[in-house]
Amino acid sequence: MTGHEVVIAGGGPTGLMLAGELALAKVDVAIVERRASQDLAGSRAGGLHSRTIEVLDQRGIADRFLSQGQVAQVAGFAWIPLDISDFPTRHNYGLALRQNHIERILAGWVGELTVPIYRGREVTGFAQDDTGVHVELSEGPSLRAEYLIGCDGGRSLIRKAAGIEFPGWEPTISHLIAEVEVAGEPEWGVRRDALGIHGLSRMEDGRTVRVMVTEPHLGRTGEPTLRDLSEALIGVYGTDYGIHSPTWISRFTDMARQAASYRKGRVLLAGDAAHVHYPTGGQGLNIGVQDAVNLGWKLAQVVKKTSPESLLDTYHAERHPVAARVLRDTMAQVALLRTDDRTNALREIVSDLLGMDEPRERFAAMMSGLDIHYDLGEGHPLLGRRVPDLDLVTATGPLRVFALLHDARPVLLNLGEPGAFDITLWADRVRMIDAEYAGVWELPVFGAVPAPNAVLIRPDGYVAWVGDGTDLGLPDALTTWFGPPAAA
Ligand SMILES: Cc1cc2nc3c(=O)[nH]c(=O)nc-3n(C[C@H](O)[C@H](O)[C@H](O)COP(=O)(O)OP(=O)(O)OC[C@H]3O[C@@H](n4cnc5c(N)ncnc54)[C@H](O)[C@@H]3O)c2cc1C
Repeated sequence: MTGHEVVIAGGGPTGLMLAGELALAKVDVAIVERRASQDLAGSRAGGLHSRTIEVLDQRGIADRFLSQGQVAQVAGFAWIPLDISDFPTRHNYGLALRQNHIERILAGWVGELTVPIYRGREVTGFAQDDTGVHVELSEGPSLRAEYLIGCDGGRSLIRKAAGIEFPGWEPTISHLIAEVEVAGEPEWGVRRDALGIHGLSRMEDGRTVRVMVTEPHLGRTGEPTLRDLSEALIGVYGTDYGIHSPTWISRFTDMARQAASYRKGRVLLAGDAAHVHYPTGGQGLNIGVQDAVNLGWKLAQVVKKTSPESLLDTYHAERHPVAARVLRDTMAQVALLRTDDRTNALREIVSDLLGMDEPRERFAAMMSGLDIHYDLGEGHPLLGRRVPDLDLVTATGPLRVFALLHDARPVLLNLGEPGAFDITLWADRVRMIDAEYAGVWELPVFGAVPAPNAVLIRPDGYVAWVGDGTDLGLPDALTTWFGPPAAA
């Protein structure tokens, strides 16, 4: 039996991001992935939102994605576009980039961090005890780990085997999605009718056609076939355009479910394993990657025994509400996308509202992930919010705040009197930087906030403490987030 500190089931976007985070923290982590290679059949996610690009920038890898995709205003609510070009972020846009490319780039990064991936194998079961988890694989010897993380997608075996409830809402609509070739010239673009929304578009190779069609009935199970697709197309367009040679046919619905608990003992869930919803708004992959960035450093500290196990409970406390809000928003979007006259009238009114500045800012910040606020108590508006990527001046030259987070370690950024803080007892874990910043501190939606004297920044880029000229509360914040002080 091979041992690792952490085993991740599933090497999709969430599992890959989590593996990278753990590897940066020098945790012995391995991924078990059912697919034999990173190749992904079909299209799925179409891009990244602003906050996810920021999170990748915090690790110094955003350029790898930006250079492969198309920067664009991608945020929207029920297909009503939301422009974020006036937002105070370096990445005041989204990125159009298909999931297969996102996964390829993440896998390249994880490869550089030398994370082993057991490919072509499935986790088939596990048993946890007081010291770890015994992980059964479909092939080869089983694995032993201190923690097992289920990043194994919406049908998560890990979630089911852990007995974690997955409550939510049954589907009200069902779509077939496929990549095929056609004999005839189809009607390109989106069609809306009484049944719902359908669309055909040509793919980059100029030959393959991406099809999405709403099904007339709910509740079909099993893998969809070319015949199912043909029937659905004939039902809508009166012809199937001679579809043939499918490379991918899949079904998705607006089922919305969320794991009741993100943790059961030594087993945790992240990404689609923890939450599923309709793809409109394009948030699933994005919040999965951000789950991973919230969990990674916490799990690393628990594995390295610098923090107590209870730190892991803050993962559920912080991330469960984020996905719950996404489920609510996608359900509202599904309702607004219905195609009857009354819903069309309602969508026009919502569109008018979202054209006004304040609603636009609020919804755009929500859809792009820039307004996330973890409840870290009362205090300065920065507390629990993302630190802005400011241009600092240090004794050794200019420095961006996000550059301080590349190695996924916490930072105490001191903008007051140099050397004003003594964090010797945490110096093995927390880096202190003296810097100057004379500009404005501005948050999306919030606007300008009072300039702090110092900020304690967690490895995920969220502010854990804000200083007003004293170190009041700093030792508590250091202990809460980065473990008790070292023995003097
Ligand atoms: C049509 C469509 C469009 C979408 N568009 C967007 C979008 O624009 N933006 C967005 O953010 N999201 C979008 N999504 C959602 C996005 O695709 C998912 O949220 C994302 O893939 C979740 O990533 P994940 O790593 O959590 O899970 P997955 O991508 O499902 O990865 C799970 C991995 O685990 C592996 N696996 C499963 N079981 C096991 C096992 N037992 N053992 C080992 N390996 C296992 C699988 O092979 C897979 O590689 C879309 C989804 C669909 C269907």
